[in-house]
Amino acid sequence: MSHTELSGSNGEWSKVEQEFEDRTLKCFDCGNDFVWTAGEQAFFHDKHLTNEPKRCKPCKQAKNERLAAINAAQASGVRQRIEVSVQCAQCGQHTTVPFYPSQGRPVYCRSCFLAGRAAQEPDANRP
Ligand SMILES: [Zn+2]
Ligand SMILES: [Zn+2]
Repeated sequence: MSHTELSGSNGEWSKVEQEFEDRTLKCFDCGNDFVWTAGEQAFFHDKHLTNEPKRCKPCKQAKNERLAAINAAQASGVRQRIEVSVQCAQCGQHTTVPFYPSQGRPVYCRSCFLAGRAAQEPDANRP
């Protein structure tokens, strides 16, 4: 029988101060790797944020701009006409839609959208 002494376990739990190291994370939106810097980790730790960032800087900014535009539209109380250029998932035509499409969802032009909706509700056309 071997007897192994574990050394160094003398109350190191009191050492709360953590050293942060740059970490590489994968962006949720574009799939690219990005660096979560030690400074940002320290900031997160300081703010007691437990969720790791999910997006790289450009995607985070794009998301913030989308949210800001939506918030601005809601705050103004006036229905603003927004136009987002997209490519129709059905016919491939470039078109604009009056809303901000969510990530990963297919977007259709007006005619494909209406055609798809009619196909989903056969009861609507019943005599
Ligand atoms: Zn990204
Ligand atoms: Zn279409």
